Amino acid sequence: MSSPALIGVRCNPYGAETGGPKRLLGGLYRGASAATPGMDLPQAIAEGEWACRNMAQVRCRMTCRCGHKGQPMDLCSWHDEVTGHTELVAGTERWVSETVRVRGHFEEISRRQAGFCPPCGFPGSRSSPNRVDYAALHKEWEGIGANLYALAQAMGNPYAAMKSPMGRSLQQRRDDIGKMFDEARMLGIVHNCPLTLVPVS
Ligand SMILES: [Zn+2]
Ligand SMILES: [Zn+2]
Ligand SMILES: [Zn+2]
Repeated sequence: MSSPALIGVRCNPYGAETGGPKRLLGGLYRGASAATPGMDLPQAIAEGEWACRNMAQVRCRMTCRCGHKGQPMDLCSWHDEVTGHTELVAGTERWVSETVRVRGHFEEISRRQAGFCPPCGFPGSRSSPNRVDYAALHKEWEGIGANLYALAQAMGNPYAAMKSPMGRSLQQRRDDIGKMFDEARMLGIVHNCPLTLVPVS
């Protein structure tokens, strides 16, 4: 699996060579999101501090079954690595080199990534059939949690904060958002969509 167009291009797993975590998942995450929820990546990879020495052999990108596509990534694939060991032959040490076939990043990433497509998990208003912006709703939901916490801090009493008019309306809104997500999940509008790495020709 090699492409002449990629000669001289370095393998670039997770965009480590071109700006790091912003391009995780081949650009499916929106800007400023360095998070990799549920991906269980080694920390160095998650933080984008990791690059590969190999030359790229395959151009590919993340694709979900609903047709979302990330930006193309250039990755190394199966390649030979020369290792060896010393052997004692007739009383003299001799270096015996051997060549082993090792997986490249294309295979490693395909294997490791169970995947979760962000636009399918949190569709925006343009991609959801009922025009609801679930990405914005999810942000608001998280913001409500922060506001409730701040309110409890300010009042010095979490219980009183929850019972206060402000606390009640925040919780009400959070419940409403939760119900909207439940409904959207039941209808399949919001769903976990596995990502697969597919070669781009
Ligand atoms: Zn999907
Ligand atoms: Zn690589
Ligand atoms: Zn998707």
